[in-house]
Amino acid sequence: MNQKLRSEHIRHKLFWSMSIIISSLLIISVPLTVNSYLNYKKSELALSEILVLQDIAELANNISKERAPANKAMSSSPEELGENLKELKQYRNKVDQQIGKTIYVLNSHGFTKQAEWLYVNLIKNLENGRNAVDEYIATPVSQRDAEQLDQAIKKMFVAWDSTHDVLKRIVYHSVGRTSNISDNYTLVLLLADLRDQAGRVASTIMASVTYGQPISEENISHSLQTQYQVDYLWDLINTLQPSEQRTVEYLELHKKVQREFINKGIPVVAGLIQESRQNKPYSLKGTELTKVMVDKFVTVVDLQGYILKSSLSSVERAYKREFRGFIFTLLVSVVSLFSALFTLIYARRKVFVPLIEARQKILELSESKQSLAFPLEKADKEVSLFESIQKLQNMLQQRDILEFQLRNIANTDVLTGVSNRLALNEYIRLLELRPERLTQTGLIIIDIDDFKIVNDHLGHIIGDQVIKFIADNLKEHLTSSELVVRYGGDEFLIIVDNTNFKDVLILAEKIRYSINNSEFYVKDLNEFVSVSISAGVAVGAVSWMALLERADKSLLKVKTQGKNAVLG
Ligand code: GH3
Ligand code: MG
Repeated sequence: MNQKLRSEHIRHKLFWSMSIIISSLLIISVPLTVNSYLNYKKSELALSEILVLQDIAELANNISKERAPANKAMSSSPEELGENLKELKQYRNKVDQQIGKTIYVLNSHGFTKQAEWLYVNLIKNLENGRNAVDEYIATPVSQRDAEQLDQAIKKMFVAWDSTHDVLKRIVYHSVGRTSNISDNYTLVLLLADLRDQAGRVASTIMASVTYGQPISEENISHSLQTQYQVDYLWDLINTLQPSEQRTVEYLELHKKVQREFINKGIPVVAGLIQESRQNKPYSLKGTELTKVMVDKFVTVVDLQGYILKSSLSSVERAYKREFRGFIFTLLVSVVSLFSALFTLIYARRKVFVPLIEARQKILELSESKQSLAFPLEKADKEVSLFESIQKLQNMLQQRDILEFQLRNIANTDVLTGVSNRLALNEYIRLLELRPERLTQTGLIIIDIDDFKIVNDHLGHIIGDQVIKFIADNLKEHLTSSELVVRYGGDEFLIIVDNTNFKDVLILAEKIRYSINNSEFYVKDLNEFVSVSISAGVAVGAVSWMALLERADKSLLKVKTQGKNAVLG
């Protein structure tokens, strides 16, 4: 019961360590994965934004460009009108298709609010502008005036404003603004502004130039203000563009804007204003002014397109990088979690549980055997595997000692304490395993002389004491390497290993002499008894039996020749 509880305890500990390891891994990997996922999602959103921006910027430019065919149609002569109206209609269709596409793109990228806003405002404002243009065209030439033309042009600006608003909203609320391409977003916005302001520079004087009338002070100041704004925007654009993005292509496009648009396009308008102030006839007609300016705007649109394109590739790269980062983090997290889980489960099943079971079994084994000799010192404490092994080892040692003692008891003569015939048989068995040893094995057979007489005169009990006295004497003369066996009633064998005849003979004689010259005190009778022994000696033989026979023959010879002697 106790052991079971201890094992449960270890299982709990194991469970807790496993939980801590898994939790630590989760604490590290979950935020990493979530963070990586959020970055990936953010880059995905930034990609959507840039695609949407590209679309809206294109739409804004095309709406802005619609003013060109509109102005052309409004200022055309009756002969040109049919052709120019056709061109305007085609362009309007193109713009309408693009509005539909932009709304679809906005919706599909989740910018539904902007899509709705664009749908409601742009379509309405564009319709107003187009109506004003159409009304102007429908008005007989004689009834038209500069004011009406100016109004139509201004209403077209309002339509453009709607797209510009969406562009601004997306840039302001974008997540991409926080990335390294944030300046590009602003640049796109500024270039859209630049392109439109430039359009306004020309458009504000368009009506007066078309009618050959002096430009009103209001429109002059409006045009000048717009010119300043163009300069300001251009300065901003130059300041914003980071040096590392100034590629050869960018510099080329930038130079074109500077050369065509700033250096050539704006001065055309400034020249016309100058002419108006000096009451000179205009050097350009309305349609010519439109034509000249449209070419200049293209450079701005091209630069904007390039910035959007390079932003897109930069965002695409970031998106791919974040995606790979997320997949990698996710994989590493999942793999490390599963490996930890697998390792822990494997360790539990294949290592800890078997170890706990082994410990329990060892403990059961050791405690069942040793409870008497080794009471459990730590009965109420936890016992480790090593302590269990130690206990089992103690138990086995104790068992060895007991076994040894038991074996000795079985192999020892009870009366004398020397080995008995059982021990001799075991010794012979070992000796015969290596017969070469027999050639150097010495054997002495000792037999007490006239022992029957001792028994007869003194009784068997005293006789036993005499036998014991002789055995003690033999033990005194022998070392532990020599085996003494009580072979029969009054008969002893001494086996000497690795010896020679002479040494054995001397040993036998020493024993005989010692016994012959000592007396045994019998307490009960208060008298001394002395006995003698005869000994037969043999050294080296092919077998035990041969050795025994030879020694026995020698003994017999001594007995017949008068006893109390040694013969070999
Ligand atoms: P020998 O000189 O020829 O040896 O004469 P012996 O009288 O000693 O004759 P033997 O050796 O043949 O007889 C041994 C006697 O020892 C016979 C037996 O009664 C006696 N004896 C045998 N075992 C024991 C014993 O354990 N105790 C006692 N007291 N006497 C024993
Ligand atoms: Mg005898």
